Amino acid sequence: MSSLFLQCRYRVWRTGDAMRPINLSEEPATQAQAAKRVCAEAGVNPADCYQCGKCAAGCPVSESADISCRQVIRLIQLGEFDAAVTSRMPWLCVACGTCLARCPQSVDLPALNAALCREAARRGCAAVKEGPLFTDIFLDNVQKRGVMDETMLAARFNLSSGHLFQDAGGAPTMMARGLLSGDGYRPSDAAEVGAMIERLRAQARAAGASDDETKEAQRL
Ligand code: SF4
Ligand code: SF4
Repeated sequence: MSSLFLQCRYRVWRTGDAMRPINLSEEPATQAQAAKRVCAEAGVNPADCYQCGKCAAGCPVSESADISCRQVIRLIQLGEFDAAVTSRMPWLCVACGTCLARCPQSVDLPALNAALCREAARRGCAAVKEGPLFTDIFLDNVQKRGVMDETMLAARFNLSSGHLFQDAGGAPTMMARGLLSGDGYRPSDAAEVGAMIERLRAQARAAGASDDETKEAQRL
């Protein structure tokens, strides 16, 4: 029992997050396979990162996240892939690209974070539970209009998530600045953008289906 306790403490220390539970039942080999697949999907080789920290130093969401973007890739290097998938960081990443621009090794952390979000959504373990819902509504919005419509996004997300008045306090300022004009603007290439998003969603659905088939085959 004491040995199990020490193992728990060791793994908690390695993740740097004493509050997050870690599933000790996951097989390291399974985690390694999943890490390889997701890193390949993102086009990232974790071994390229030498932990200089330049990425995290410029990341605008570091302070709001449980771990930094540097720690995400460190967890993967340490074989703690499940801890990376279940962290909040990938969902808070705004894909600003600052980390990638600063990285001396050109490690594509925005792509890695996006791939981790997709993996978490596939597993049904998104650390920010509304994350997959927000992504779906966002993509629907851009697919239909060819451009982001903040009014529709906020309205649909608040209704669907049950956070009816979330961010409502910011609406007057946004209206005053013309950001919630609701003028129905559609770019001339809206259909092309919509078709591109549909193609990407079909690819993601196909990838999800083959994942399910693999899991089913493993169960049999
Ligand atoms: S900047 Fe690049 S090499 Fe440095 S810690 Fe971040 S990902 Fe790793
Ligand atoms: S792309 Fe994401 S991880 Fe990188 S600096 Fe921006 S918010 Fe941080």
